[in-house]
Amino acid sequence: MNKLIDVLLFILDWTWCFPQALIGRVKSAAWRGQMCPAQDASLERVKRKEKEWRCKIYLVKRESRDEHWFWKKISGSGIGRYICLAEAEPGNGEIDDEETIAHEYGHIITSRITGPFFILVMICSPLYSLKSRKLKKRGWAWEQVVRWYYSRWCEKLADILAGVNREKWIEERK
Ligand SMILES: [Zn+2]
Repeated sequence: MNKLIDVLLFILDWTWCFPQALIGRVKSAAWRGQMCPAQDASLERVKRKEKEWRCKIYLVKRESRDEHWFWKKISGSGIGRYICLAEAEPGNGEIDDEETIAHEYGHIITSRITGPFFILVMICSPLYSLKSRKLKKRGWAWEQVVRWYYSRWCEKLADILAGVNREKWIEERK
């Protein structure tokens, strides 16, 4: 049964979700190729999630990501069947905790439901991310920026689909 689900989701990702599967594949290959993967206790957990969710997850060291001007500007993502995230750093929104990985999986569920219409998420999500960086520069507190960002439609949808309790996540990090 598990094998059947593997095959069906693989076919779904590479047909109905083809554009984002291709973009996710290219991005994740470049992301993984240029940077050094994070080595920590979370890897076992990540391997389990990859199996359960039928996707590939790449966690990279923040320092190695920050060395490249291009990747520094590109945020983590869940596109097609590929999740790319940078290692944790306190006070930064992109981290390798369970909820953050689950949130990216929420985008993958969105992709599997919406197929080619996922293009809307691929347009809106980076724009919201850019805007949230601007809000941070404008002096908004971390909590305000995070609340703003995760209440945008595509981010909220990813949280709902993956069962992420964003308020609890914020409370734990205040
Ligand atoms: Zn997101």
